[in-house]
Amino acid sequence: MAKKQFKAESKRLLDLMINSIYTHKEIFLREIISNASDAIDKLCYLSLTDDKVGMNRGDFFIEISVDKDKRTITVSDNGIGMDRDELENNLGVIAASGSYKFRQEAGESEDVDIIGQFGVGFYSAFMVADEITVVTKKYGVEQAYRWHSAGVDGYTVTECEKDAVGTDVVMHLKDDTEDEKYGEYLDNYKLYSLVKKYSDYIRYPIRMLTSVQKQTEDSTDEDPKFEMVEEVATINSMVPLWQRKRSEVTDDEYAKFYSELARDFDKPQRIITVSVEGSITYKALMFVPSKKPFNYQTEDYEKGLQLYSAGVMIMDKCDALLPDYLRFVRGVVDSPDLSLNISRELLQHDRQLKVIAKNLEKKILADLAKFMKDDREGYEKFFANYGRSLGYGVVSEGGEARKDELKELLMFYSSTEKKLTSLREYADRMPESQKCIYYASGESAAQIDALPQTELLKDKNYEVLYLTGEADEFVLQTLQSYADKPFRSIIDGDLDLDDAENEVLDEKEDLMKFVKETLGDRIKDAKVSRRLKTHPACMSAGTGFSFEMEKYFKNFQMPEPVKADRILELNTKHPAVMAMETALLTDRSKAELYAKILYNQALLIAGLPLDNPSEYTDMIAELMK
Ligand code: ADP
Repeated sequence: MAKKQFKAESKRLLDLMINSIYTHKEIFLREIISNASDAIDKLCYLSLTDDKVGMNRGDFFIEISVDKDKRTITVSDNGIGMDRDELENNLGVIAASGSYKFRQEAGESEDVDIIGQFGVGFYSAFMVADEITVVTKKYGVEQAYRWHSAGVDGYTVTECEKDAVGTDVVMHLKDDTEDEKYGEYLDNYKLYSLVKKYSDYIRYPIRMLTSVQKQTEDSTDEDPKFEMVEEVATINSMVPLWQRKRSEVTDDEYAKFYSELARDFDKPQRIITVSVEGSITYKALMFVPSKKPFNYQTEDYEKGLQLYSAGVMIMDKCDALLPDYLRFVRGVVDSPDLSLNISRELLQHDRQLKVIAKNLEKKILADLAKFMKDDREGYEKFFANYGRSLGYGVVSEGGEARKDELKELLMFYSSTEKKLTSLREYADRMPESQKCIYYASGESAAQIDALPQTELLKDKNYEVLYLTGEADEFVLQTLQSYADKPFRSIIDGDLDLDDAENEVLDEKEDLMKFVKETLGDRIKDAKVSRRLKTHPACMSAGTGFSFEMEKYFKNFQMPEPVKADRILELNTKHPAVMAMETALLTDRSKAELYAKILYNQALLIAGLPLDNPSEYTDMIAELMK
């Protein structure tokens, strides 16, 4: 039969495998076993809901066998198998693992790294084999098929005979070279150690012919005699990591498990274990990745934990187990108490699942609080990655119930400490007399620091939180207060600073009226500022929307544009404002020019767009003449 071509991207990955100089080629076995285990998961799950399968949990197994003469290793499973289309679609192209996509994003130079980062599934076998044959029969399908490929030039699929449902992957090893002794994989002991090293926790028995010491037939108690016999035995311990006590598992073992689960070779930042026995019994093993997954910010990223019921995988990403704002958490949950005779869809709404999810959320938040306390530096790294998600938790529906825990986990840049601070730390430093917690939002700490509005507070040594995350302001507005002190923006509205407020100021009514008339509906009001010291003017935004919200919502299609009020505040002690006041008496058009320039300057400093930039530059040019 005619050879079929691999899809272009698969061909490239295949090429990469065949010519791989990767030093850990041995991982191919882990990948093939993991596929076998996934296939068994699928049939095992089916057998729970469909009696026709006629298999029990204990009937499933994976078997490894070796033919030294033919130089082949065979990994067999009695899992779901593949039909013709699946063979074509699953082995002819790179499946859902996302490794190819990642490689494109990471750039071609990262070739070797992705093997370590992701594993590359089935194709990794081509690192050690020059020829691969897959014989498979799908559950519920009469015909079995044989897929065969000897490398990049393509593959064939033919009909064949196979009695039992399942899949055999036969790998013919490459010839040994000076540097690489592929033949060592024909050694049972070598295979045994690889299974122990990488696949010990696979939840189905992995069987292999091994030498075991046995008593001979003529052995007696008085005269014990032993011989080595070759016998098929289960070589993996089959106890998944999450079933073991935390104290009995090393961080290294957790890290290895995590890297397979999340396809992330960096060590996780947090390991969270949960074990609950009661009306619902379950165990959970969760991780906080140390860096954001490459697609975290995109729609491709799927949140959720792997869900098992008594060791059978039910769902790879069970969405309902995590609230959106904790979507960065990865891990597994295993409970023998879940009802399995309902669809996965319904299971997501299951009452018991909800109880588990609520408790996991609590545990994760408690762990993060501990993290912040025990390892500040690590927590700050974590916060840089996922702080925004926690903030989202405060404003999101359902986050309400967790507000008290969440607010303790937030951090903002402090104007006086010059680093991230928590609300608790701010409140503890606050002088008794201070009535509010001050904040200012903007694009960066440097930009906020340069705002005219920050001057007075700096002068008085008040600490201001600089909010640079786009939703930070919403977060504080949702929280409203902390330790009974309301949050107050220093950009908009009054500051509630006693002495400054009580200062008797000449309100300069005529001048303000003139400014308001000159600028018309470009501003809501003009007033004498109580907060400016060295700057002539600033823009503040009354009590409605803030400027940062206006900027934020620019990116969305809103039924009505979100626009903050513009209140022009003028420093009447500043020479520029005084010059305007003098000009008003002698040369009204000059005074108008000054008013417009001050207005534009206030917009610029607030990071707001000018109504007409060329008009503004013309006005400056006019002054320079
Ligand atoms: P991944 O496992 O990341 O999806 P692979 O390249 O390892 O990618 O495998 C591709 C697909 O081939 C799998 O998703 C699965 O559908 C199918 N497959 C591989 N091995 C087996 C097997 N032993 N039994 C059934 N299906 C398999």
